[in-house]
Amino acid sequence: MRNFLDRIRYYFRDCYGVDKLSTYIFILAVILSFNRYTSFVAFALLAYGIYRTISKNKYKRYQELATFNNFFNIIKQQYYSRKASFSQRKEYKIVKCPNCSQKLRLPRKKGKVTITCSKCGNQFKAKS
Ligand SMILES: [Zn+2]
Repeated sequence: MRNFLDRIRYYFRDCYGVDKLSTYIFILAVILSFNRYTSFVAFALLAYGIYRTISKNKYKRYQELATFNNFFNIIKQQYYSRKASFSQRKEYKIVKCPNCSQKLRLPRKKGKVTITCSKCGNQFKAKS
């Protein structure tokens, strides 16, 4: 029995292992497996997660992880910026610069104001 475990350990010695992306894939697979329409997707995700875990091409797996982290951070940033603008909606209005579409925060109830974009310096009028 001990010999058998050693052989397994020896076989998996160069494997990539479980990372954040694999963990999320496994969690998503478990969630999707509860619905019979998505169970096929869950199975595919599970297979992909296992493939990543036992893969020996660590460079490729690190690249996948980096891509995932970038994507995840963008989603997180958007979530927090939406949350912030929603909680400030009574005091501030968000306007977009017509030139560079930079989002600018205006204090409300100031009437018509001239805005200078902080990014490109473009001036435009807007109601606050
Ligand atoms: Zn601008």
